[in-house]
Amino acid sequence: MVLDSIETAPREDLRQVQDDRLRETVRNAYENVAFYRETFDEAGLAPADVESVDDLSKLPFTTKEDFRDTYPTGMFAVDMDEVIRIHASSGTTGKPKIVGYTRDDLDVWTDAVARCLVAAGVGPDDVVQNAYGYGLFTGGLGLHQGVEELGATVIPIGGGNTQRQVELLVDLESDVLTCTPSYALYLAEVADDMGIDIRDLPLRTIIFGAEPCTEPMRNEIEERLGVTGIDIYGLSEIVGPGVSVECEAQAGLHVWEDYFYPEVIDPATGDPVEEGEEGELVLTTLAKDALPVLRYRTGDLTTLNYDTCKCGRTCVRMDNITGRSDDLILVRGVNFYPSEVESVVLEFDEVAPHYRIDLRREGSLDRVEITVELVEGFDGSSADLEDRIETRLSNVLSFTPDELNLVAYGSIARTEVGKVQRVYDHRGR
Ligand SMILES: [Zn+2]
Repeated sequence: MVLDSIETAPREDLRQVQDDRLRETVRNAYENVAFYRETFDEAGLAPADVESVDDLSKLPFTTKEDFRDTYPTGMFAVDMDEVIRIHASSGTTGKPKIVGYTRDDLDVWTDAVARCLVAAGVGPDDVVQNAYGYGLFTGGLGLHQGVEELGATVIPIGGGNTQRQVELLVDLESDVLTCTPSYALYLAEVADDMGIDIRDLPLRTIIFGAEPCTEPMRNEIEERLGVTGIDIYGLSEIVGPGVSVECEAQAGLHVWEDYFYPEVIDPATGDPVEEGEEGELVLTTLAKDALPVLRYRTGDLTTLNYDTCKCGRTCVRMDNITGRSDDLILVRGVNFYPSEVESVVLEFDEVAPHYRIDLRREGSLDRVEITVELVEGFDGSSADLEDRIETRLSNVLSFTPDELNLVAYGSIARTEVGKVQRVYDHRGR
């Protein structure tokens, strides 16, 4: 089922909508945002030079530094009296990125999230327990407004309060839970301690986002909670959650291309990659008034697939994001992503889906320490398991950690609110 016919429209029709909306977005950005006027002028470009999405590659990129340099509202194209909502990025370093929405912008976002919910198999009769944080973070209110738009029932519990989350899953028979992947696992553990097996509850779908999630991690969640795990993607600079989502085929995330135009580039050169090749996702908003964004470098690595999906949707699918270009760990001439470590360690049945990576400097040498939890009640040989994990890491990632610690189940701190942290870099700058 689809919410809007544009989701299955012939690509030529979609293209027409994209070109019209892009021209309008470029005009709005140029006329109303000093940052864009200056970038265009410097590049010797006028809005009329952008007639279609084919012309996008002429434009310079927008980066997170540009948001920082224009903090707080320098990227806004409208006066504050037209803005009816403010959100902000989590801003792990420096100032957060402030974003704003007009009433029309909120309608676009709400519609994008409602489409995501329908793609994930959510219907008006469902009860959706929303465990994303409410507040400046876009997750909570973003999902909330989409659920209401669809006419389903939203439980706005927000993050944390895990025992109460479990009680509500039981008492209100929630059909759908929205949260981060790491929180889904934590919830299952708390439920266990309360003597409740989530697999016995009506809960059938978890819509998760805000953190990268590898395929083995998804499998763990699906098995442990007896659910279908659907990945949703978004970022506050573009809109918040709702830029793309998996459909029930779980074969890539459909991007709502009439609202957000995706490109994939080589992060080193900035050139577009061949279709199907991996690179950095770049997004252009096509229907936002308060904060039009042209060619935003997301830092997220993915590929695009333009084949029509089993579900009938014609809009492009992006790969599940398992790495950000910023997350690449460089140690002694070897690079790897934390998600690659995750994929390897979760292949082992003896290992629980909790791990951390510590990077330290000793003298001039970098050291990598990987800490992995054993499953509950592990009674095998740790030395043997350690050997097998090290061999596998060395075969797949061509590196062996300086230290591999196998620790008892429950030893690694769980994250109850916000995004999980798995990499701890103690090396300083
Ligand atoms: Zn699909």
